[in-house]
Amino acid sequence: MSEKVSEQQGKTGGRDHRVNTPPDETPRKKDKETVIREQRGRVCRYCKLGVEEGACVCPHCNRHQNPFWEHIQHIGILVSLVMMVIAFFKLREASRERVAASFSLDLAQRALADAKDALGRGERAIQQLQDLAKTSGAITLQLVKTSDRWSGFSYEEQENAREAITELMRTVGIPVGDVNTLVESTGWYRWTEWDYVCYILGGPSIPDALPQGRIKEWEELRGRGLAQVARPEEVRRFLESCGILTAEGEELILDYEYYIRHHEQRRPDVWKNREEWKHLRRTK
Ligand SMILES: [Zn+2]
Repeated sequence: MSEKVSEQQGKTGGRDHRVNTPPDETPRKKDKETVIREQRGRVCRYCKLGVEEGACVCPHCNRHQNPFWEHIQHIGILVSLVMMVIAFFKLREASRERVAASFSLDLAQRALADAKDALGRGERAIQQLQDLAKTSGAITLQLVKTSDRWSGFSYEEQENAREAITELMRTVGIPVGDVNTLVESTGWYRWTEWDYVCYILGGPSIPDALPQGRIKEWEELRGRGLAQVARPEEVRRFLESCGILTAEGEELILDYEYYIRHHEQRRPDVWKNREEWKHLRRTK
């Protein structure tokens, strides 16, 4: 290996100065510190006075020979500074958040007040709508039931009208119980009950089978008005005592009882045909 190098040097004729550095140039490149260190052993990197080998702190200037430890206090100050800056920004952020939070709270409180106000207005509007539905519904029901009673609306027409009106009232939020009370207050059911009494007693004209002496009672039972419509048992008792209560008549009285209980027809087809009823015959 060394032979090869010297061979190469021989070929170039020793003219390459980059390879063959002159031995006298090295001392000039040594810095002052190295020279002192060579003369006096190890020196302090700050005051350049001699320190013992292995000493951490210079006995002259008291500075640490390891740069990290020497600058640790500066790093400490820097870190504290950075922390203070961060703390400042955090504080400012917190303060802003608090302002934003109190602003939001204020907004929320105002929104709540507005919502309560709107809710109150909405409730009043619904109340007015319900009152309107009750009033107009009641008037319509009375009109349907009382207009030309003997040849006015058909059974289906009347029931459809009642269904439509009560459905409307339920839709605007009137409770079912209130709807029923309202329908009842229009006399809707009473009119039908009165019709039952009249038709079970034989319709508009005095029935042939009725004994002569009972006509006054017959007229009294039919003519009591809506407030005191004759009850099924009264009608039954009367027909029985007159000797004209047939099995068909008893079924009609059962229909009447059913209607009082359920406000619905037990036999709608029979009810629709009430003007054709021919149940009154002498049974004795
Ligand atoms: Zn020193």
